[in-house]
Amino acid sequence: MKNAIRFFFLTVFILIFSLSSSITAQQQEPAPVKASQVKGNIYEVEGGRGANAGFFIGENEVLVIDAKMTEESAKHMIAEIKKLTSNPIKHVILTHSDGDHVNGLAGFPANVIIAAHHQTAKDMDNAFKDAKLRSYLPGFTFSKKMKIHFGDKIVKLFHFGPAHTSGDVVVYFPDEKVAFIGDLLFLGRDPLIHRHKNGNSFGLVKTLKSILKLGADTFIHGHGSIAGPSDLEGVIKSLEEKQTKIKALIKEGKSLEEIKNIFNIEDRPPRPGRSRRPGLVETIYLELTEKK
Ligand SMILES: [Zn+2]
Repeated sequence: MKNAIRFFFLTVFILIFSLSSSITAQQQEPAPVKASQVKGNIYEVEGGRGANAGFFIGENEVLVIDAKMTEESAKHMIAEIKKLTSNPIKHVILTHSDGDHVNGLAGFPANVIIAAHHQTAKDMDNAFKDAKLRSYLPGFTFSKKMKIHFGDKIVKLFHFGPAHTSGDVVVYFPDEKVAFIGDLLFLGRDPLIHRHKNGNSFGLVKTLKSILKLGADTFIHGHGSIAGPSDLEGVIKSLEEKQTKIKALIKEGKSLEEIKNIFNIEDRPPRPGRSRRPGLVETIYLELTEKK
């Protein structure tokens, strides 16, 4: 009898354990990679591992914007492209150097031309240790702006100064008024400024204002659904308000700790194996106090 009870509990335990582990597996499994048409021949790629990416189907070739985070997800993206066109992928343009936008490069054809801001190329050179990934370092870099012609189609690339990182690129399609802006926009959460990559919150305001001047009406970004100009305006407004308030508090002689308390900021410990990254309020404080 005892054995029967023991067996019963063991079975229940195994059942619960396998059920919960299958739930976690499901949670960890990302949504499948999916391409959806934005306008004309411009597509956004969502799902898989890594940030949203995109592509443009030109007359003779395909231009990809960002490369997903893993070789596998990049290959799924390429499979999505192949469903729509037999044109070869010749160029990949990177919006910046974060792993969730560039580590999938290894899944691309070896002869693809990779374009990025020169600072992004430098950051990738530091980050890429794997020999295969190193063969995908950008072969083509620029500093401020560049125009690419695909037949009669023009694509404009802009760098407006340090913002999310110091190598952010905006990929603009003037005919369609569509811009890929990488991680220059986050909706529903604070903007992300990578100080370790020389990002800058005042630079982000300047960059977002410059982006608005392009006249685009559709913005594709790394971690959310497609945005419009009012979304960018909202981020500029709240960021400027925060900067003004922090400036005033510093002038009043408040310390960083006091300012963090005023904004109800609780420091979270860094993720295992990662160095501590300051949040937005601390970043603004550091930018303002470093300038003196
Ligand atoms: Zn990023």
